[in-house]
Amino acid sequence: MYAEMNRRTFLSLFGQKTIPAAALLFLNNSLLPAKYYKRASRNWVWITPDLQASDEDWKNCFEKLKNANITGIIPEIYDGRNAYFRSRRLPVKAEYLEKIIPIARSYDLEVHAWMWCMPCLIPDIQENHRDWYSVNRLRQSSVDKPAYVDYYKFLCPAKEEVREFIQDTVKELTLFDVDGIHLDYIRYPDVILPKGLWSKYDIVQDKEYPEYDYCYCDTCQKKFKDLTGTDPLELEDPARCKEWLQFRYDQVTNLVNDTLIPAGRERGKMMSAAVFPNWRDVRQEWRNWKLDAVFPMNYNSFYLSNAEWIKQYCKEEIKSLRYDIPLYSGLFIDEVENFRQYVIKSFEGGAAGISVFSMNNLSDEHYNMLAMELKKY
Ligand SMILES: [Zn+2]
Repeated sequence: MYAEMNRRTFLSLFGQKTIPAAALLFLNNSLLPAKYYKRASRNWVWITPDLQASDEDWKNCFEKLKNANITGIIPEIYDGRNAYFRSRRLPVKAEYLEKIIPIARSYDLEVHAWMWCMPCLIPDIQENHRDWYSVNRLRQSSVDKPAYVDYYKFLCPAKEEVREFIQDTVKELTLFDVDGIHLDYIRYPDVILPKGLWSKYDIVQDKEYPEYDYCYCDTCQKKFKDLTGTDPLELEDPARCKEWLQFRYDQVTNLVNDTLIPAGRERGKMMSAAVFPNWRDVRQEWRNWKLDAVFPMNYNSFYLSNAEWIKQYCKEEIKSLRYDIPLYSGLFIDEVENFRQYVIKSFEGGAAGISVFSMNNLSDEHYNMLAMELKKY
């Protein structure tokens, strides 16, 4: 009924020769001149480490970002194996964060430090804390038999020592002059990969298979048994047990809300996270996280989907958020005209901005396109 009424109102307005100014307010934004709906978006790039780049190279990069209306950078400074900042506890590969912060500041770019959370490839932890690692339904530890790829050695989020270990990385990063801390891999291993990746791994995942289904470690088994009286290893169909699914969503949510966010906020840092559209498959109920901003990785090609999917997904994601926080649409680089559509569709879906994965793959054509499109929002 509402749709029909709007259509009639719309038609009657256009039936008149002149449209009263007040009536413009009732029309869709896209029909208005730009000045009526102009708003300041914030836009981002994820940056993978480049240890060879000189100060001059960074200045050139940041100048280009600035001209393309990018307002913040998200440099990867811990990848589960190496720290790219002066850490006192993690293996340090380079003092890279220290190097780029002042240069980014001179271009007035926000800096958010991008850290991995659950995968842990540090030799000392693998040798001395084997019990920290997640265990699948076949009772194989991810440290011995990681799923899909060698680096899928995920820690178990239900363990107190693991929570402290990840929190300590957040605490270390708060000592730097960064605006925020950006959590990545804050989830379980994918029990089901996005469809677009099945061929890459030569895999068909029509249901939850035990070798990809985590975590059945002693801690999780006991915690769930204490809570419900049920042993998760005895569940006939774990994928259909709501309590068991929720238990795992809650392990990650509690880690984020109770352990990581307070540690960052205590020193005035904005807390954000890169998250999955297919949140159930990675046990990542991020709509309940008390973040300052959320960055869903709307990588349409991974889901065999087009630009329109990005718009629909942004809309649904924003609607699902429990807290009123900005959503930045994470976009995977594509050929420039396709990429332009991804940008446009993100804003049409209500995103507060976009984030590009990754800066390292942006061409001059991409920069020009972003300069033109992002100034509209
Ligand atoms: Zn566990």
